[in-house]
Amino acid sequence: MEYCSSDTTVTTITSPPSPSSPPPPPVASPCAACKILRRRCVEKCVLAPYFPPNDPLKFATAHRVFGASNIIKFLQELPEAQRADTVSSLVYEANARLRDPVYGSAGAISQLQNQVNELQQQLAMAQAEILNMQSQQANLMAIICMEKWQNTIPHQHHSYDNNYQTNMSFLDENLGSLWEPLWT
Ligand SMILES: [Zn+2]
Repeated sequence: MEYCSSDTTVTTITSPPSPSSPPPPPVASPCAACKILRRRCVEKCVLAPYFPPNDPLKFATAHRVFGASNIIKFLQELPEAQRADTVSSLVYEANARLRDPVYGSAGAISQLQNQVNELQQQLAMAQAEILNMQSQQANLMAIICMEKWQNTIPHQHHSYDNNYQTNMSFLDENLGSLWEPLWT
């Protein structure tokens, strides 16, 4: 593989890595990808910037779904500025694919879209309820204002009261006959 040359760095000469020895200092340790692929990691390793040795699961997941050679190919075809995002996307998709082998990330998207639809329905219902409560409040305010108005104009109180009584008895008669069938 061209991303791993046979050059040996100074640090690896002074402390050669072996499976049984404790992990070497961070500078000397190979990237997670080269460690899993059992290859020598070099300074120009295309995978090293995106697969640090302290996160082996990241490469293992992407490798399991896409394969190391595909990941290397993807990265080599892209400018360096886009590689970090590509790796994030590959790892995300690989995790989604392992969780849901049929739909992968599309499954998560569809699930979230359903959730958005449900929440939008709930929001519409809540907004309708707010409008309903606002109109109830307006009605109550109108009644309160009317009562205040009655109290502040005592000389009109009597005549208004008479009219009110008449209107109410008229309403009672009419409503009584209208509502009668409902109570039987
Ligand atoms: Zn490497």
